[in-house]
Amino acid sequence: MLGISDKVLEVCSELILSEKHLNEVMERLRKEIVKGLSKETNETATVKCFPTYVRNLPNGKERGKFLALDLGGTNFRVLLIELGGDNREPTKFKMQSKIYAIPQNIMLGPGEALFDHIADCLATFIIENSMKREVLPLGFTFSFPLRQEGLTKARLVTWTKGFKCAGVENEDVVRLLKEAICRRGGAEIDIMAILNDTTGTLMSSAYRNHNCKIGLILALWLSMIIIQDVEIDVCAVLNDTTGTLMSCAWLNPNCRVGLIVGTGTNACYVEKLENVGLWDSDYNEPAKVIINTEWGAFGDNGVLDFILTDYDRDVDEQSINRGKQLYEKMISGMYMGEIARLILERLTKDGHLFNGQGSDNLYKRGNFFTKYISEIESDKPGEYQNCRQVLEELCLNYITDQDCKDVRYVCEVVSKRAAQMAAAGVACLLNKMGEKSVVVAVDGSVYRFHPHFHNLMTETINRLADPGIKFDLMLSEDGSGRGAALVAAVACHNRTGPGN
Ligand code: BGC
Ligand code: MG
Repeated sequence: MLGISDKVLEVCSELILSEKHLNEVMERLRKEIVKGLSKETNETATVKCFPTYVRNLPNGKERGKFLALDLGGTNFRVLLIELGGDNREPTKFKMQSKIYAIPQNIMLGPGEALFDHIADCLATFIIENSMKREVLPLGFTFSFPLRQEGLTKARLVTWTKGFKCAGVENEDVVRLLKEAICRRGGAEIDIMAILNDTTGTLMSSAYRNHNCKIGLILALWLSMIIIQDVEIDVCAVLNDTTGTLMSCAWLNPNCRVGLIVGTGTNACYVEKLENVGLWDSDYNEPAKVIINTEWGAFGDNGVLDFILTDYDRDVDEQSINRGKQLYEKMISGMYMGEIARLILERLTKDGHLFNGQGSDNLYKRGNFFTKYISEIESDKPGEYQNCRQVLEELCLNYITDQDCKDVRYVCEVVSKRAAQMAAAGVACLLNKMGEKSVVVAVDGSVYRFHPHFHNLMTETINRLADPGIKFDLMLSEDGSGRGAALVAAVACHNRTGPGN
């Protein structure tokens, strides 16, 4: 068997975290969370710990049809969800969804254009699914740091993950969505289009009756009434972590943490109100609330500098949110591939890989996708089929088995560090909550598609969590969609909280 090259081992060694490092990360995160929760220190805290105003977990009895919007992951989606549609199997739910692209110019353009685009997609979806005469509650999953002022009022604190639309930061995103829906002068026209079949039937029978004129007037009159019926009722705005927690809690009453390791990373957890200094509402039962930690910003005040490498600093410097989301940049899918690429570039330029022969593709920023890491690590040990394919895609020529072995090792070191950092975060939350048995709901492309992420995280949490704490990492099916519906369902039931 080939060993890893000494030089590769040496270069990668600074990305290997010791037990001491991980304990230190946990302890520092705990301090930052406490700072975030306290009213006096929240303003200067990096880990903001925003109360979500979601206090009731679902009990499995939620019913009804909901719309959901999901913005902030790999894709933008509109969803129609029917909870508990089947009486024999109440946990069944039906879902239709459609993915819409968000072009780069919209991600970086004026906020108005972004919300117009969202409203357009929503309208198209409603038309395509012929949802006539229905006022559906809508849950808006907006996966960016939101300072919530209620269930339906939330200001964007700062963009993350490659978005930077002007005029949205500090604004209430629910208001921006509603305004965009109103702005659609075309909305009425489009909504009329969904009337086509009713109107059409009426019109054609009117035609047969040679009573065109009356038929037409009747049809127009009817469509006007119906137009007024088509409404969207934004019931809740939520973070994807909250959706993930809710979606899992629907089936699993022990679920207390929601985690995303995808394009970005973040976690939420259930906290007692007495620990939430920021809480500004009543203390009635249930005296707890889901806290959106926004842990992606952990390290933005320098507390992670002790483990940052040149590669991390490079990724940060080249990002559009320099100095921000440093923990996220060590963990999530938007950055992991680039960290690996920077190491591979350095090793190649120093002559330790591919016989020193790189390629423009390898040297181009952003060209080594995080999914490559998952693919390369999915090869059976000793086989390099996926690895060779990826390297060929990057137009590399002189690829030996030794190169493949070394490339795989680089990927392993980068993804293992990410999994361990995320695990330290989860262990920190588990220790803080101190409950005996907790289900952690997880979603996100990295967790889903990386072949070892789940196991790496589980092993590490096992070592870091206080003795006596049992936990399970559970893949949460479509938190941003079903979770949004559940938050909307719970919210529609309890329309008494602040901001409603
Ligand atoms: C955002 C969070 C979000 C996470 C995962 C981060 O960049 O700040 O709000 O939950 O990504 O999508
Ligand atoms: Mg998502």
